[in-house]
Amino acid sequence: MSQAAGAGGAEEIVGHVGVSGWADVDVPSGLAIPEQHHASWIDGDVPNAFEEPPQLAKYRIRRVELAGDPHFPPVENGLDYLVSVVESLESQDGEVSARNLKYAVLHLAAGTEVLLKARLQYEHWSLVFNQPGNATREALADGSLTSCTPDETRQRLTNIVGIQFSARQTKALASLARSRNALQHYGLVGENADARRVETMTAQVLNFLIGFIETHLWPHLKDEERAEAEIAMERIRGGLHMIQAYVDERMRDLAPQLGPVRDRTVQCPDCLQWALVTVRDTDPDWDLVKAAYPAYCHFCDRRMHPEEAALGYVFYVLKRGRINTADDDSWTPDKCPDCKLQCMVTDARTTSAPEAAVNFCFGCGQSTAT
Ligand SMILES: [Zn+2]
Ligand SMILES: [Zn+2]
Repeated sequence: MSQAAGAGGAEEIVGHVGVSGWADVDVPSGLAIPEQHHASWIDGDVPNAFEEPPQLAKYRIRRVELAGDPHFPPVENGLDYLVSVVESLESQDGEVSARNLKYAVLHLAAGTEVLLKARLQYEHWSLVFNQPGNATREALADGSLTSCTPDETRQRLTNIVGIQFSARQTKALASLARSRNALQHYGLVGENADARRVETMTAQVLNFLIGFIETHLWPHLKDEERAEAEIAMERIRGGLHMIQAYVDERMRDLAPQLGPVRDRTVQCPDCLQWALVTVRDTDPDWDLVKAAYPAYCHFCDRRMHPEEAALGYVFYVLKRGRINTADDDSWTPDKCPDCKLQCMVTDARTTSAPEAAVNFCFGCGQSTAT
């Protein structure tokens, strides 16, 4: 099956996500949906959720979840597959069903193919054909093309576009292609039945794809495509935190960046990973943005104001200050003797010595023994 042309894959996806998507999402009645999307639900069936009182939205709604236009562009199509992968693997209790595992692999393979080919198409549309010399616009438009294999796609990305793949990435992509073929023919047997292995492979490929999207696809997207893609990326990143293998993989990737700053790396109030680093004005890449938002989480990509980081840490990591009484001010950060900001938290812990409580300043990254 060719995913490159969009239309063929799109029908399948709408069938998969279209209606059931509503069931999982709390939709506030005031939800802001970009202008061009209104028509598709105003004219059609308005889901019941819209009539219910406003609630906090868990996720914003993507275009593919609205009834209507099944033709969405390759990047959106690919991201939709990844959203499905993350939803299949998310689990509260660590157990992923066999069926979910199967669809996670199939959709990951489809999403990878679409996204890698999207980059080839930005280079030239004929590059997604198995023989670019025989490419026709008609075959691309109606999806009747014979498209290049995953291996050829990777080779063309390297040889023609100049994108290098590490040995680890190449191996993970090859393993995914093998699993997909085996699954399509034999179902969930052999190594594909090993949840742990599938999860690790999925984590590696997703980790690679997120970087690939940000570096190689994002700059090519138009503004309205970016708005759509951002919603999908938000959901993918949100779901990834639930996949332990992904967390492990990503933390391994971050080790070179986090290693040298262990004495000012603390747990992030947002994602709870030990990846929130407070920058210093002596850092080589220090700038005005970092001066205003010195706390940055390398895991969830959040940049925070010092007060926000300090209070967030007190509330969500230390779990203090939930009940705010007049005689209890234990939740209020102290004033830092160095930078004079009210951002110093007692009982904080850094990666360099997680067992020792310190006074940590989210304004300047200084810590002192308590
Ligand atoms: Zn974080
Ligand atoms: Zn300070």
